[in-house]
Parts: sequence; structure tokens; C-alpha cells
Amino acid sequence: MIQMYESLGISREVYEYSEKILNGLQERFQKIDETAEYNQLKVIRAMQDARVSAECFETSSGYGYNDRGRDTLEEVYANIFRTEAALVRPQITCGTHALTVALSANLRPGDELLSVSGKPYDTLEEVIGIRPSRGSLAEYGVTYAQADLKPDGSFDYDAIRAAIKPQTKMVEIQRSKGYQTRPTLSVSQIGEVIAFVKSIRPDILCMVDNCYGEFVEKTEPGELGADMVVGSLIKNPGGGLAPAGGYIAGTLSCIEQCAFRLTSPGLGREVGANFGVMQSFYQGLFLAPTVTAAALKGAVFAANVYEKLGFDVVPNGSEERHDIIQAVTFGFPEGVIAFCEGIQAAAPVDSYVTPEPWAMPGYDSDVIMAAGAFVQGSSIELSADGPVKPPYAVYFQGGLTWPHAKLGIMMSLQKLTEKGLVKLP
Ligand SMILES: *Cc1c(COP(=O)(O)O)cnc(C)c1O
Repeated sequence: MIQMYESLGISREVYEYSEKILNGLQERFQKIDETAEYNQLKVIRAMQDARVSAECFETSSGYGYNDRGRDTLEEVYANIFRTEAALVRPQITCGTHALTVALSANLRPGDELLSVSGKPYDTLEEVIGIRPSRGSLAEYGVTYAQADLKPDGSFDYDAIRAAIKPQTKMVEIQRSKGYQTRPTLSVSQIGEVIAFVKSIRPDILCMVDNCYGEFVEKTEPGELGADMVVGSLIKNPGGGLAPAGGYIAGTLSCIEQCAFRLTSPGLGREVGANFGVMQSFYQGLFLAPTVTAAALKGAVFAANVYEKLGFDVVPNGSEERHDIIQAVTFGFPEGVIAFCEGIQAAAPVDSYVTPEPWAMPGYDSDVIMAAGAFVQGSSIELSADGPVKPPYAVYFQGGLTWPHAKLGIMMSLQKLTEKGLVKLP
């Protein structure tokens, strides 16, 4: 084994340090496998209930009327997320687009959107108009308010109560930390805040940005009263196989609004060809629970590798997980860059290129991204990224298989040691 690692550029020192860390993680890994087992059964059960058949994988073109594969897949998603309905489509270009559809379909001029989990994900700043942008909700007269999380990362219920006004139409809850170092919210915390909001005003719609959270726990926020649960298919639920797409699962009324916005008033869910992606959507969903488990093991491993070297890691090495993201704060830009170089060097695709910080659309600082992915930008595949600005934290996620996630982390450590940025004990 060690020779195999050495042939890939891993030193004996890094290998031995890694094995020592892994020895202490067996119990954690067992729990992750148990959640994957539960969720695998949930997915199989949903596919059986919806009578998924080979016909569902057929291509449709043009208007996509009577697309049985598409309609059945949406039924499967609604079952898994415990919602009345779902939209799962290649026409939803990414997670940001799915969230944009969910927001703009259910908000009207004069309505207010309230984020109760602090500042939303970077790309949503332009969608909402927090940073002025063409086509933003602000341009359409939708206002925005925010209740920050408390310093310990929990919901600030007093601030939320104070922020709810007569014009508040929707509450947004972001499960994952995104590019922040706050803790990720658990599904049960999200359920509590939904119940709190509904106790004040039952008509307020609660939307959960579920990106990176799918299949990490045994329940999803739809089970605890979310009106909409939104995510990307090139993250967890696509299982690495979906080539693009997004989903919105929610109440029938919210989902119909979304469909009229995504396609056209009057047409709604009835149109939308599947372009032959159905098999990958189904098969990716089938694999998603175990792929998510592989990514989780990688995250737990990374947390323990870097925590024991003295870096700030969120979540810490022993905390329970609610998403697949691992933040490591280096405090200096060279750490972020070396980490990303290691992830890149461990990839099956584009391993020979060197990632560099760059200005990316939707972000307000240079961002460095490492990914050698089969699907462009897929972050359920092993990837790392971080805005190159203080506190110089890198966000690591994904790994379609555990051995690949492990190699990626080992390679990141290799780069850091080679550059003299860390010293192994
Ligand atoms: C990834 C992500 C998004 C946006 O998804 P894209 O597919 O990159 O557009 C939104 N919110 C959170 C929390 C995310 O992690």
C-alpha cells in the first residue's frame, strides 16, 4: 500500500501520520455508514413506490409533453424529501438558479424576504439585490431583511421575532455554512425555527437552501415543515452522475408557482424535455447516499488531520455533521493555495494543472478552486475552494469514493509539508 501511495507522490511521513489519524476514526465512520444504509433504503423504497421502470430513462425532446421519466422522478424526489411535489430538471442550471426560481416565483412586489440564518450564500447577494445587480429581486420591489445568527451559531429568536413584519412573505434558512466559518445548522434546528416562524405567522413561507446537506442525516427539512427545500444536482443528490440540474421540493402550491416561473405562466410543469439525462438523474440519486457518506468520511478525516496540526477547523474533529463541507482556516493565503494544489494533484482528471486564484462571477474577491471533475464544477466530486481573503479559510468537499477523498487530503498535506507550511509531529 505504501508503495502505491509513494508512486503517487505521498511521502512515508504523510502516510504514517494519516494512518495514525484514521485509526481513531473507525467509530465515526461506522455511524456514517449506518446513515447511508438508512438513506439507501429510503431511496430504493421511493423508487419502488413510484414504480420506476426502464421506460423512465427514455429521452424526450421538444415540448416534453407526457414525459413519464421526468414526472416519475419528481414523484420520487417528493417522496424522499417528504413533500407534496417537486421540480427536478436539467433546465434548472445550478443551485443558485433553483433558489432564484423558488424566490422569484413566490415573492411579489411589496413582499419582504427575511433570512434568519444571517448573510446568505455569496451568489444570492446579487439574486436578492444585497449587492445591486441587474434583474435582482430588489429591482422588482421585493425587500430584504436579515436576522443574524448568535455568536455561537444558533438562531437568534428575539431578533427573528423583531424582524417579522406584515410584509414578510418568506423566510430563508441556509442549512450549510457556505463561505463562512459558522456551524452548519442541523435539520432539527431548522425544524425548530420553522415551527417558531409559523407560530408567529403560519402563512409565512419557509424555504431551506439545502445545498450540501442532502442525505447527511436521516431526515430532510421537508419533514419538519419547510415549504420549499432547494438544492443542486451537481452536489449530493446527483450522486456525481447528474451532468447538471437542480431541484425544488415543496408544497404543491409553491412548486406550481415555481413551475410557472421556470417555464411559463400557463405551461408550468407540463413542458420541459429531458434531453436524455434521466438515467443519470435516477442512477445518481440511487448512489447519492453512499457517495455522500464517502464525502463525509473525507470531511471528518480532513478535520482531524488539520485540527491536530493546530489549525482552526469547522466543524471540529469530533462534532456531528450536518453537511459535507469542511472549513480549514489557515490564516495565510499560501495555505489555501497549497491545499487546493494538493486536491488538484490527486484528481483523476486535470491532475497536471495548477489552480490559481481568479475573479469569478458572483463572488466579490478572487477565488481559488481545485477540481479535477468529470462534471464541470461538480462539488460532490472532490473539490476545494476558498475566497482569497482573510481569514484565509479553505472549504473542502466531495469525493465520489472514500479512497479518493483520502488521497486528496493526504496530497494537500503533502503540498503543505513540501512548502514548509506545516511540520508533522
Ligand atoms: C453551492 C451553494 C449554492 C449555489 O449553488 P450553485 O450550484 O453553485 O449555483 C447556494 N447555497 C449554498 C449553501 C451552496 O452551498
